[in-house]
Amino acid sequence: MIPLLPFKKTRIAPTPSGFLHLGNLLSFVLTAALARRNGASILLRIDDLDRERYHDDYVLDILDTLNFMEIPWDEGPRTLSEFRQQYSQTHRLHLYQHALDQLRSTGQVFACSCSRSLLNQLSPDGSYPGTCTKNGPALSEAQINWRLHTSPEKQLMIHTLEQGNISTALPALMQFFVVRKKNGIPSYQLSSLIDDIHFGVDFIVRGNDLWHSSLAQTYLSELISTNDFGKAGFYHHDLLHDSEGTKLSKTAGSISIQYLRKEGMKKEEIYQHLAEYCGLQAGTIKNWETFAIQYFETKQQHQLLHSPADAD
Ligand SMILES: [Zn+2]
Repeated sequence: MIPLLPFKKTRIAPTPSGFLHLGNLLSFVLTAALARRNGASILLRIDDLDRERYHDDYVLDILDTLNFMEIPWDEGPRTLSEFRQQYSQTHRLHLYQHALDQLRSTGQVFACSCSRSLLNQLSPDGSYPGTCTKNGPALSEAQINWRLHTSPEKQLMIHTLEQGNISTALPALMQFFVVRKKNGIPSYQLSSLIDDIHFGVDFIVRGNDLWHSSLAQTYLSELISTNDFGKAGFYHHDLLHDSEGTKLSKTAGSISIQYLRKEGMKKEEIYQHLAEYCGLQAGTIKNWETFAIQYFETKQQHQLLHSPADAD
């Protein structure tokens, strides 16, 4: 059974920096199924702030793939021109800037000009070595990251479908995370959070590789003006792996939906292919609804979802 959850709006949020693959499709299907089951609406949000990797073809691929796979959305662009005119993140730069100004005026950010190679050298595990927390450059300088002064002690509460309510601190790898990049563009953590608040998103489905992002965004939500992001629910699903257990990534061309379609696969066959990757009984799957029912039933059988009857 697809879980019953009290939420009103969720989102599908692909990045137009590559062609959609089976991993994206899994996220979209679970999002659509949870939304329809709970009478919630679906926003299509295309995260295009990374202009260096952006391409119109990728936006067209997103729209075309969603239509081909018959995944519904209620709000957001239907065409490339609607996307450009109304929905591109470039239309919301003032919202991101407002949040950055707020963080700056309350003394919660500092500037860091350190190169990635210096940071890697000082701290090979990827955590921030603290180089600029005290005597870094001025925030007004060009080509600097803005980083957040974070606290390793602060406890965050996060509501998840997979494990119920979790109380945890921001992990070491996310301490002092970047909110504005060297090119002056807001970071993914900031823009994603501000967009979710702006559109009233109260449930987020994403791969479990973004668990740290959920924590960073929850942390950040507590530092900016009043919002309900802390009440949002999350579902962090498992990532797809091939038969050798290797994580399927964007760069694996053979799992792009476009490639599968060129090979002549129909919608049903692509859903069955996805089901095989998830260890489901592929034969009975025809569309996203039947995929999602079987997906969630399997998770429930293996007790991989939090049941509201469990003690929190
Ligand atoms: Zn620095």
